[in-house]
Amino acid sequence: AITETDYIWRNGAYIRWADAQVHVLSHALHYGTSMFEGIRVYDTPSGPAGFRVRDHIRRLIDSARIYSLDLPFPEDEIVTACKALVAKNKLSSAYIRPLAMIGYGSIGVVPAKDAPVDVYIAAFPWGAYLGEEARTRGVDVMVSSWNRLAPNTAPTGAKAGGNYLSSYLISREAKSRGYAEGIGLDVDGRLSEGAGENLFLVHGGKLMTPPAASSILQGITRDTVITLAKKEGLEVVEQALPREMLYLCDEAFFTGTAAEITPIRSVDDKTTRAAGAGPVTRLIQERFFGLFDGSTKDEWGWLEPVRAV
Ligand code: PMP
Repeated sequence: AITETDYIWRNGAYIRWADAQVHVLSHALHYGTSMFEGIRVYDTPSGPAGFRVRDHIRRLIDSARIYSLDLPFPEDEIVTACKALVAKNKLSSAYIRPLAMIGYGSIGVVPAKDAPVDVYIAAFPWGAYLGEEARTRGVDVMVSSWNRLAPNTAPTGAKAGGNYLSSYLISREAKSRGYAEGIGLDVDGRLSEGAGENLFLVHGGKLMTPPAASSILQGITRDTVITLAKKEGLEVVEQALPREMLYLCDEAFFTGTAAEITPIRSVDDKTTRAAGAGPVTRLIQERFFGLFDGSTKDEWGWLEPVRAV
């Protein structure tokens, strides 16, 4: 269940949580024409801070651009609204969910020009996505029988509502069989990503992750991990990876705003060599979570204080 908060931001104004309703004939509900983001706010020693809020909003704008949706609000206004909403709801840590959708007014697949693009932002408390225990012990996952979306179909580079039919099938299949999550292969059978997470492997001391061309969403946590790893002097390679690398790697982990850094303990009932968080995963976790307790210096300006405006 979602923990309700007082306010939701809709098209420039605050409304009560319960009033954030849409009409059943809203375009996005029928055709998946919504673009969204997930952003975390951490309770840091210098107060609540949003993590890479601007980068998330830029991705939201990029997703909209791919689908020719004109967002009626500029980047700065959405960034400010995200932070202000957290303060207005008196949250010290939170998950922010901005959503831009084609609203009510047209039932054709290509909506009439005057169909509105509505922008909503919600912010509410949310713990570890794959469970608290997952962070230390790791998760058991399976390779899904469902592939990720093929290139030049529905673009995985956009974080669009419709893409999550693929994530739904992958994750649901895995969960119904007792696994924490499913990994999708791309249309060529190469490693792609988890249903809602990017995938990293550690092999021969190198950090490896599938490239943009392997039907992934280029995660902001993925980029964070690449940056932190390079700073530690680790070699990071973005390259197409065959499925069997899952069974040969020393360590594996997921990254994502919701999943943060979650070690993978086993894939298809075979434990990774580290059988959970190995030394590289632990180092990355320490540097990543260190950003939020101050033990990793934020040299990149990733954390932005959340305050009322
Ligand atoms: N892939 C998919 C399919 C996702 O839904 C997410 C979560 N947004 C990610 C990867 C990770 O992206 P990020 O690190 O930006 O949250």
